[in-house]
Amino acid sequence: MTKAGEKFVIALDGGSGTGKSTTAKIVAKTLGITYLDTGAMYRAVTLAALEKGLPPEEGPAMDDLLKNLTLGFDSENHVLINGVSRESEIRGMKVSSNVSFYCALPSVRAALTEQQREIGKKQSCILDGRDIGTVVFPDAKYKFFMVTDVEVRAQRRYKELLEKGEKVTLEEVLNNLVERDRLDSSRANAPLKKADDAIEIDTTHISIQQQVQKILDYVGVVA
Ligand code: C5P
Repeated sequence: MTKAGEKFVIALDGGSGTGKSTTAKIVAKTLGITYLDTGAMYRAVTLAALEKGLPPEEGPAMDDLLKNLTLGFDSENHVLINGVSRESEIRGMKVSSNVSFYCALPSVRAALTEQQREIGKKQSCILDGRDIGTVVFPDAKYKFFMVTDVEVRAQRRYKELLEKGEKVTLEEVLNNLVERDRLDSSRANAPLKKADDAIEIDTTHISIQQQVQKILDYVGVVA
């Protein structure tokens, strides 16, 4: 239970396509708090690196890219790279297939973790990602970890991409989800992992509204 006016962090972690961002957006709106999509930040760095032709390797070129990259979000929570909305490009398969390599670099994780902490310290916030409850905010007041059957996740993501006009097959989407989870769980630095004190939510058979309600029930802001 949280008192009105008290600052708090909600960490929402889980594998790719478990519905974290949709859930987090609604929770943020309902509670009137900030939503930070940390995956969008890793996607943005990946897009910028791919556009510069940089391989996923440490070095002065990557340091330079991180130093000169300003990330932000517009009022619809669309990612801005140096002030320009690149939302549709960061969601495409090209970035999805490469992001797990770039985000494993210590320099990338250090830079984005610092920015996420800065944002989360200033205001009540829900952050979704892979390492929020374990690394970014290990002392978060609320921690949730979402799990969903992989076939269900692939179907949901496939539908979203088709609606956006992306030409992709269900098999490609499924393979990408499985591969990203494998890489994200096995990296040495801040892997995808449930925090010991996180509450697990299985979203395979429940609606978005039910997922949201489970979180709101725990947080239950009181005056
Ligand atoms: O959440 P989303 O699927 O958009 O994240 C894209 C990728 O960014 C993930 O597959 C993962 O490789 C990386 N990521 C991460 N740590 C986070 C958030 C995302 O490594 N906190």
